[in-house]
Amino acid sequence: MATINDNYLKLKAGYLFPEIARRVNAFAEANPDAPIIKLGIGDVTEPLPQACRTAMIRAVEDMGSRDTFKGYGPEQGYLWLREKIASYDFQSRGCDIDASEIFISDGSKCDTGNILDIFGKNNTIAVTDPVYPVYVDTNVMAGHTGQASGKGEYEGLIYLPISADNDFTAEIPATKVDLIYLCFPNNPTGATATKEHLQAWVDYAKANGSIIFFDAAYEAFITDPSLPHSIYEIEGARDCAIEFRSFSKNAGFTGTRCAFTVVPKTLKAKAADGGNVELWNLWNRRQSTKFNGVSYIVQRGAEAVYSEDGQAQVKELVGFYLENAKIIREKLTAAGFTVYGGTNAPYIWLQTPDGLSSWDFFDKLLQTANVVGTPGSGFGAAGEGYFRISAFNSRDNVEEAMRRITEKFSS
Ligand SMILES: *Cc1c(COP(=O)(O)O)cnc(C)c1O
Repeated sequence: MATINDNYLKLKAGYLFPEIARRVNAFAEANPDAPIIKLGIGDVTEPLPQACRTAMIRAVEDMGSRDTFKGYGPEQGYLWLREKIASYDFQSRGCDIDASEIFISDGSKCDTGNILDIFGKNNTIAVTDPVYPVYVDTNVMAGHTGQASGKGEYEGLIYLPISADNDFTAEIPATKVDLIYLCFPNNPTGATATKEHLQAWVDYAKANGSIIFFDAAYEAFITDPSLPHSIYEIEGARDCAIEFRSFSKNAGFTGTRCAFTVVPKTLKAKAADGGNVELWNLWNRRQSTKFNGVSYIVQRGAEAVYSEDGQAQVKELVGFYLENAKIIREKLTAAGFTVYGGTNAPYIWLQTPDGLSSWDFFDKLLQTANVVGTPGSGFGAAGEGYFRISAFNSRDNVEEAMRRITEKFSS
């Protein structure tokens, strides 16, 4: 009989969002009239920018005539899009990134998992705790870990706790790690990293021959001008960092699908024979073999993000969610909660009241206020006692949810 990849059996069955759905459905069945508001899953709610829609409609028309029709595109993405990204997102901020170092994809979720294809089996891997679950689960699937403990920590991974004690920024490990996942602005805590903090990480990575996986999915939410948007704003990062970016959260592309990964040509890692190999070559080979590019229509939509109209519309969209975040922060603070994040990120990370566990607070919030959030413990053991509220929702829902929480929880 055929056999399976047994690593999949190590994955914890109760993945966070299915468990949330199970509890919400059970509650809704028992209370069919309860007006549930979901501030849980990090998905956007507002429509696609007009500039993106117009560009995609035009691109559909291109597909309708033989002289503008497009078949397979370059696996790396169309150069006109990669050039805009290089110019607007990197060169304009003083980052030395070339269009050839940008790989367009259909999502950062898949890229952060797929990147493991080009790395060896014996790397020491560090993640923050709490963390975006994709980084952990893709390492489990790839066989880079042992079994999960009762706390849900996998043997073989190094967990770097992020909490109020260290300002929600991971401390540089005392030991040597080869691969490090960093995400700033952070999902789930909403924390940001300063240039000094990222410089310390880059210095550590260069001293140890490590590679940093820098997930900047939420960079558009940065309002503080002193904060870096890209790790390539940091001296030396071209020699030690891969950056993941997405159009999902800035331009509402969660359902449209477009993202990109930056692999500088100066980045190297070791082969079994001891030689240094360019990672760009491996990722290019990997993408050319296992991926056939993002649809022409969607890439035209992403390109429109960089048009004058597109830039203004994206700014408005991000501003809308940031205003939601501000309302959530202020109302929760006034109600007596201790809250973090939410100023340069669309997530508010709150301390559960009265020492409640994350899941107990989830149930209490659902039952008393009919509001759904995300238990911090679902993002890692160190997330226990915390809770994530997402600013991705309509203004009405945010205001109504805060009104109910204020009424039920004010101390
Ligand atoms: C939403 C999100 C992404 C984007 O994923 P896509 O697959 O591009 O939609 C990446 N990283 C984190 C941490 C996210 O929350």
